[in-house]
Amino acid sequence: MSYPAFVGVPFLIRGDREAVKFALCIGKLNAITGGEISRSRHGSILEAILSPWESILPPMSKIRLSPSRVNDFSNCPQLYKYRAIDQLPEAISLDAERGTLVHSVLENLFDSPIPQRTVQTAREILPLRWSDQLEANPELASMVSDSKEWLDRASALLDSYFSLEEPNAFEPTHRELHLELDLSEEIYLHGYVDRLDVADTGEVRIVDYKTGKAPKPGWEEKALFQLRVYALIYWRNYGVVPRLLQLIYLGSAQLLRNSPTESDLVSTEKTLLRIGDEIATAMRNDKWAPKPSRLCDWCSFKGICPAFND
Ligand code: SF4
Repeated sequence: MSYPAFVGVPFLIRGDREAVKFALCIGKLNAITGGEISRSRHGSILEAILSPWESILPPMSKIRLSPSRVNDFSNCPQLYKYRAIDQLPEAISLDAERGTLVHSVLENLFDSPIPQRTVQTAREILPLRWSDQLEANPELASMVSDSKEWLDRASALLDSYFSLEEPNAFEPTHRELHLELDLSEEIYLHGYVDRLDVADTGEVRIVDYKTGKAPKPGWEEKALFQLRVYALIYWRNYGVVPRLLQLIYLGSAQLLRNSPTESDLVSTEKTLLRIGDEIATAMRNDKWAPKPSRLCDWCSFKGICPAFND
């Protein structure tokens, strides 16, 4: 089968019909035709071009939403664009690396038989996972000048975990569970749950570890959003509203717990649909407003962000 010349255009090769439609909207079809044809004419040309290929092009891609990307867009649409659309690389964050390390130790801890799920076992796993992390990312070695201090800080977070939970008193059902849902025709929603426990009674508990400190009073609802998204996905997929959402803050040795209602989850769903719509509009218009805030001091993209550069 021979393909016409237009299939050589990069986004057509990728079968990215969404990109084609956006290109249409912003009049970039000149890039294909090389001519000075009006936008409406571009539209009719593209429709004519696409229709015979309708059956072989993959389905239009959806907006991929996760709690992190929703937060990005809510905090700053420009930040969302850099991360989700442009997928620019970011500077390594030692706080994030410490979080990854502690998460992997806690995940491994539950591989041990119940009697061996002790703080001592966790401390023994710690240097093993750290050496895996260094092997995967050798750049980290030069960033962590004092390995002992680094491991001691991670170890203190593990101690904190044992002050909040007894891992030898239950068996987790899932660890690092990927949950996903087609929220609408345009939105695919997904996320990774640190731990999901299903009791013999069928009650579900969703657990997330945080290496930072618990939110200040008044900020709990914002902190719970992530777990409500997971609860929504679970509910829509399995018809069961999780009984308990539990955030474990290792940095301040505190728990934040919440029992979601159906109405909480419906409200979370509405928020997600609204944000999905806002992202779709931003994509159509290719407009990503920077939203400067205190977050900018930690943003990897400050050097290129239009809010700080001409
Ligand atoms: S520097 Fe600030 S305004 Fe710019 S992208 Fe980052 S968070 Fe947004």
